[in-house]
Order: sequence, then structure tokens, then C-alpha cells
Amino acid sequence: MTAAAGPQQAAHPSPGRLFVLSGPSGVGKSTVLARLRTVLSTLWLSVSVTTRPPRPGDVEGVTYYFVSPERFAELAAGGELLEWAEFAGNLYGTPRRAVLEHIAAGQDVLLEIDVQGARQVRDALAGSAELRPVLIFLAPPSYEELARRLIGRGTESAEIREARLQAARDELAAEPEFDHTVVNHDVEAAVQTLLDLVADQRLR
Ligand code: ADP
Ligand code: 5GP
Repeated sequence: MTAAAGPQQAAHPSPGRLFVLSGPSGVGKSTVLARLRTVLSTLWLSVSVTTRPPRPGDVEGVTYYFVSPERFAELAAGGELLEWAEFAGNLYGTPRRAVLEHIAAGQDVLLEIDVQGARQVRDALAGSAELRPVLIFLAPPSYEELARRLIGRGTESAEIREARLQAARDELAAEPEFDHTVVNHDVEAAVQTLLDLVADQRLR
């Protein structure tokens, strides 16, 4: 089995750390993580399930597992999601087992989820010092720049974009709940800050 296909093998690994990255839609989370993935192969990025239809460029099993609302309800009812939330009209959730298995195998894991999900993960794992997640907020340089990026991406109708910008106001207000804020002025600089945060946790 290759290391990339599943949790890395070790006799008695110390558990990995759990990182949660949140931030308003359009701030650049996917862009920053795509770059981070190329320079930090040891970090396992969780793949969420969603009922949102695929966007151009989305890849099944890489960006998301795209499922029907019925399948999503089954997964949630069966306790298979570590957290889940509705965001701008679609459901999103984190498959529980893969996350816990990678952490137990000593691998650092990153969840890219919305603020509601970040709160759930924080609360669900509050009792475990080992699993306490490191919460990171990716912030835009300004609200105007966020709106520019969302419009520039051009993947949403005006109505859905408006719902996302509305949600962004609430998400921006949640920033103080996070352990760290990274401002995404520039992708390379944001990636470097994330690398530093991951390395810093490893030294603890
Ligand atoms: P999210 O995943 O947070 O919704 P995306 O990664 O899709 O956001 O980025 C939204 C848009 O902003 C994309 O068009 C992307 O190319 C652009 N973008 C991302 N980071 C930056 C940046 N630092 N400066 C300028 N544009 C950016
Ligand atoms: P998008 O549709 O742009 O890919 O994602 C919309 C929002 O859903 C983003 O804020 C993203 O972080 C969030 N999201 C993606 N996966 C999950 C998940 O598994 N759980 C939660 N709570 N939010 C998620």
C-alpha cells in the first residue's frame, strides 16, 4: 500500500494533529490548499461529502464526494459524519472514520470547513487534549476584495453569490473564535504562514 493511499504505517506513532481551516466563501481556501498540497505531502486533506452540484474543475473524490440529499441524510443518521452543516442551500459534512484513522496513524489532518462545522469539531473534541484541533481562520484583506474574488471566480449565479456574501458577514464576525488568523493577501505568503503553523505544532 502506498503512503498516499491511506494512513502512514508506524509501530507506535504519536497521533497527528487536527487542523481546521475556515473562512468566507471566495477568500481563497481552495486556492491556498491546492498550493499547500504540492509543498506539504505529509498533511492529509479530508474530503467532505456534499449535496452541492459539482462546479467546473471539481473532481469526485478529490474536491468532494458528491452525494444525493438522501445519501447525505443516511450518512448523518448513521453517525458517519464528524460534523455537518448547511451552507448557502447545500449540505456539507466531514466523514468521521478517515479523519480519526489518519490521526491515530500519526498523520496531520486538515479539514476545510465552514464556521458552523469548525465550532462543532471544537466542541465534539473538547474533552480530548490529543485531538484538540488547531483552528485557523483565512481572512480576506477586506470585504470589498472578498466580493471581487467571488465575482471574479464566476462560478455562482448572482443569487447564490449573494447568499454566500450574506453568509460571509457572519463568518467574518466569527474570526475571534479561532486560534490563528491568516490574511490571504497573497497565496504564497498565506501558504508559508500555514506551513509555519503546522511546523510549530509539531515542535510542541
Ligand atoms: P474559496 O475556496 O475560499 O471559496 P477560491 O480558492 O475558490 O475561494 O478563490 C476565490 C477566487 O479568488 C478565485 O478566483 C481565486 O483564484 C482567487 N484568489 C484566491 N486567492 C487569491 C489571492 N491571494 N489574491 C487574489 N485572488 C485570489
Ligand atoms: P464550496 O461550495 O465553495 O466548495 O464550499 C462552501 C462552504 O462549505 C465553504 O465555507 C467550505 O469551507 C464549507 N465546507 C466544505 N466542506 C465542508 C464540510 O465538510 N463541513 C462543513 N461544515 N463545511 C464544509
